[in-house]
Amino acid sequence: MLNILLFGPPGSGKGTQSKKLIQHYGLKHLSTGDLLRKEIEEQTPLGRIAQHYIEKGELVPDNVIIGMIEELFNTHQNVKGFVFDGFPRTVAQAKALDNMLQHRKRTICIMIILEVTDQELLKRMLNRAKIEGRKDDEPHIIEHRIKVYKEQTAPVIDYYKKQDKAFFINGMQSEEAVFTEICEHIDKYSKCK
Ligand code: AMP
Repeated sequence: MLNILLFGPPGSGKGTQSKKLIQHYGLKHLSTGDLLRKEIEEQTPLGRIAQHYIEKGELVPDNVIIGMIEELFNTHQNVKGFVFDGFPRTVAQAKALDNMLQHRKRTICIMIILEVTDQELLKRMLNRAKIEGRKDDEPHIIEHRIKVYKEQTAPVIDYYKKQDKAFFINGMQSEEAVFTEICEHIDKYSKCK
């Protein structure tokens, strides 16, 4: 099973690269952001909780996210692997994910971190706001999301560094160049052979 963790600040290209990766390796895309937006659209109880946090650019509480992932794992038992996009976003989520995978005799094979400057992130997300009209892509919320990433999410990198699984890629290159580098890293350094 190939489980890839695609990591990076909001706007670093995780969504775009995930779509390419699932096609290339035949994997299942698991984006907690997309899942939460669907819950909000359907106005489920989980969606109503999530909306409150997402609109402020805050993280949705760990227990909500972990419960959602657990349920998804149970409904997708026979996939070749997952591309995790936007999850885990805290060390507590990373630990819970490791436990869930271990329980199923699986593991995270590699973590790819996309590096993009703050200035470029802002530019990309303001552009996305024009196209998609996401409420959390407003300037002051974008800045807050970048701050939340640095404070609460970036520590997850150290968690996987300790497992020798973390690799940095320059996310400022063209979409194709980033994708080529990601694949090279997966093929060379994945812990799952
Ligand atoms: P994204 O589409 O991945 O940028 O996520 C949009 C928003 O959903 C984030 O700013 C958070 O409010 C929330 N969110 C998505 N994934 C998570 C997660 N793993 N943990 C907590 N909050 C999340």
